[in-house]
Amino acid sequence: MGVTATPMVHMSGVQKWFGDLHVLQDIEFDVAAGEVVVVIGPSGSGKSTLCRAINRLEPINEGEIAIDGVPLPEEGKALAKLRAEVGMVFQSFNLFSHKTVLENVTLGPIKVLGKSKADADKRAIELLERVGVASQAGKLPAQLSGGQQQRVAIARALAMDPKVMLFDEPTSALDPEMIKEVLDTMVDLAKFGMTMVVVTHEMGFARTAADRVVFMADGRIVEQNTPDEFFTNPQSDRAQDFLGKIL
Ligand code: ADP
Ligand code: MG
Repeated sequence: MGVTATPMVHMSGVQKWFGDLHVLQDIEFDVAAGEVVVVIGPSGSGKSTLCRAINRLEPINEGEIAIDGVPLPEEGKALAKLRAEVGMVFQSFNLFSHKTVLENVTLGPIKVLGKSKADADKRAIELLERVGVASQAGKLPAQLSGGQQQRVAIARALAMDPKVMLFDEPTSALDPEMIKEVLDTMVDLAKFGMTMVVVTHEMGFARTAADRVVFMADGRIVEQNTPDEFFTNPQSDRAQDFLGKIL
């Protein structure tokens, strides 16, 4: 192993416009293997677009993106394969409503990874146990609480054996009493060494689980630092202003 290991996520010179709106500006962003990065910033600063660009749910106009050293393909099978290596969990759980919890978790591994149903079932049960919802395996998503559904969404993403997990405000749609169970699941994942990019307003999570906090404003990464440094000693006016409003 070399000293300069390949980053799990690499973004360089990334530019993205929506019409006239320059939503991602000169993005230089690397995430090391096993690193947990929390992305924060005001609404509209480009956090979701950054996440979505990482697996090309959102095409970029300029720049490079690579996952574990492999440049993101433009399209086709190669893109599908690389996308499978990047798990994503959104604010809305996006589970298939007419499929059981178990089927939600096994569908990708069977269809995309070509796993047998038996293998996919076995792994899915392990993952559902890990996120604490194995007893719900035979139910439909609507029969679960929001917190349970989000944990199923995490299990579903993990079932693809991703190299990196992206979370875009995973607890924003949850009732307060369910936020902790989802955050605890994410803290657990971080402890297991998963590479994670997490957009969240949960500063408690950032303080306990993040290796690095990245602050975005107006489509730019304005500053980044360890949580301790960032929260106690933010450098930019934008970050000071933002923290003043949320803390
Ligand atoms: P954040 O997640 O930080 O709130 P977003 O990445 O969602 O920010 O959005 C960044 C900016 O891009 C916002 O001004 C938003 O309105 C705009 N935007 C996001 N998606 C689209 C889209 N599909 N078309 C046009 N503008 C968009
Ligand atoms: Mg967003």
